[in-house]
Amino acid sequence: MALPSSEVSGQDSSISSWIHMLHALPVPAAIVDSAGVTLAANRWIDTWQGEQLLRPASEETAPGLALGVDSESRWRVRPLDDDAQYLLATAEREDAGDHLLRQFFSSGDALFVVYDQAGRIIESNAAWDSLLGYSAEETFGLDSWSLLPPDEAAVQEQVETELRTYSRSEPRFHMRNADGDYRLIQWALHFDAAVGRCFGIGRDITEEGREAAELHRRAYTDELTGLSNRAHLLLTLDGYLETADMPAVLFCDLDHFKLVNDSLGHSAGDALLAALGRRLESLQIGPESLVSRLGGDEFVVLLRNADREYAAQIAREMLDMMSSPFIIAGRSLHVGMSIGIALAKENPESRSSQVLLSEADTAVYEAKANGRSSVVVFDDELRSANERRLNVEDGLRHALQNDGLEVHYQPIVDVESKAIVGVEALVRWRRCDGELIGPGGFIDVAEDAGLLPAIGLYVMEHAMRLGSEFSANGVDMLISVNVSAQEVSNNRLVDDVQSLLRRTGMRPSNLLLEITESAVLNTDVALPLLHELRGLGVSIGLDDFGTGFSSLAHLRTLPIDVVKVDRSFVADLVTDEVTRAVTASLISLCDALGLFTILEGVETEAQSCAVEDMRGGMAQGYLYYRPMPASVLRSIILPPVAIAA
Ligand code: C2E
Ligand code: MG
Ligand code: MG
Repeated sequence: MALPSSEVSGQDSSISSWIHMLHALPVPAAIVDSAGVTLAANRWIDTWQGEQLLRPASEETAPGLALGVDSESRWRVRPLDDDAQYLLATAEREDAGDHLLRQFFSSGDALFVVYDQAGRIIESNAAWDSLLGYSAEETFGLDSWSLLPPDEAAVQEQVETELRTYSRSEPRFHMRNADGDYRLIQWALHFDAAVGRCFGIGRDITEEGREAAELHRRAYTDELTGLSNRAHLLLTLDGYLETADMPAVLFCDLDHFKLVNDSLGHSAGDALLAALGRRLESLQIGPESLVSRLGGDEFVVLLRNADREYAAQIAREMLDMMSSPFIIAGRSLHVGMSIGIALAKENPESRSSQVLLSEADTAVYEAKANGRSSVVVFDDELRSANERRLNVEDGLRHALQNDGLEVHYQPIVDVESKAIVGVEALVRWRRCDGELIGPGGFIDVAEDAGLLPAIGLYVMEHAMRLGSEFSANGVDMLISVNVSAQEVSNNRLVDDVQSLLRRTGMRPSNLLLEITESAVLNTDVALPLLHELRGLGVSIGLDDFGTGFSSLAHLRTLPIDVVKVDRSFVADLVTDEVTRAVTASLISLCDALGLFTILEGVETEAQSCAVEDMRGGMAQGYLYYRPMPASVLRSIILPPVAIAA
């Protein structure tokens, strides 16, 4: 800043210094006389509609103070503030203008300061004095740069360069007040080389700054653990990827966290997550890393530059860290963790944070499938498995929206007469290329993607329409539909079944809902649900009995009507004495409990005879019928007239 001029001094300020001040205003501003003639206007006016500026002042303008236009375009007397679109001061004569402007600049909250070329203050208004707490004498001649905090010293050079080059600068920096505290000020500075003065208008934004910092903190912090959140992780990871670093994402997921929540309550779950957050933070992984929580029990450790060995070493340290128990709610808990790693270094095409994260997610999923407390690194093999999953998921969503699913039906026969007594509805997916895919090719993906309830509804509706059609044609038989664990737990099953029964006209007594034992292990949820379903008049079957969790006690305690004996029993029936004996006892136990049995997977005559000898009730299998489309089933079941119709 050059040329201090005796023209402008603290005690001698003519209207010209105030006119200079206009140039520092960050909004359109002008000084006009009462006839509407513009005496001075700042740079914002150039692009601004002149006529409006020249509009005659109303009575409201009488005192000749600042004017602004509010949102309804009415003229208002206003001090300088954020909402004012422009300022206008009217003056009868130039000397009166000085008085009026002085009045204007000394009222209001805005800080007005005139600096000399060395940055010394030679003029200031009352707002400045009261905000920073220096007396007029202390302020006069004060070196404003001496009020900067040391860590913002670089601002001085930036401002001086901007003023030299562009004559203006709009910096934001802290200034120390008389009490030694700092206020954050947003400045609009204008340097007039002709008079060697810098005119500044400032606004105290300390509170806004605090709020902004708090908002920033909240936007990027996970409240429960105080760690970075997903947004901050993505931002940091994007930054690492942009600077051509080779970051590694270590995706961690607690094993059986749900059990802790369910058995000890949510506050114990929260306490465990917070404690885990502290352990992860204590890892010695250096400043170029980030520990974050995505939500639930998912945490991500991000390393700025890592190869496979280094990432695996950190993962091992993390697993070691889990070996000592957590003390939660007075109990000692041993908790395992699975870790999936994705490395930008090994997958150079994974140059997006979303892709890297989803790869790490896939790897952690694999780690869980491999047995928990393990580490899996995402590689080509996983990539193709992942691609398949994504393709299947896309295809299924498309099929659901475009009627691309089909329901096939496998007859269930009476073991003695071999007459068809019912059918089981089995879903099929007709791919875009025309190939028909059985549930084995997509059920697992549908389950992970949460699509089973939608698929279940589709199948149920088709099956019930068929059941209703059969009844209308005088054929009453069992229509059996599989119900997934997801449908059991999503609280909509009873309503859905009820409304479908109403809509399709299906007789409830003909409907059998097949549920696997594993879906009804949580008896607190399952018992009321099964009772409600039976209350609708439908029957319940326990599917695949004899696999996995099977418990004979369930046959007595669960409100069920039918037991479907798994095909593994039938498979060994002819060759294995023990299986034969167990199956025979199971059938008589069911009989004693008043339960019907359906033996699944009868493929040979010998098996069929064995089932018949045991008085197995009903059976199902390729020997009798394979699953078939509804049209084929109709031709077997319905009288020819009904089919033609
Ligand atoms: P599931 O409920 O036990 O259905 C019986 C499965 O055994 C069917 O396979 C059927 O085609 C097959 N099967 C029948 N007889 C024989 C036989 O003699 N030998 C052999 N090896 N297999 C036989 P599918 O249609 O592939 O269905 C497999 C599983 O997918 C079903 O097992 C069921 O758990 C599930 N599923 C099928 N449709 C649906 C559905 O609409 N919803 C739900 N949630 N699950 C379904
Ligand atoms: Mg079934
Ligand atoms: Mg089954």
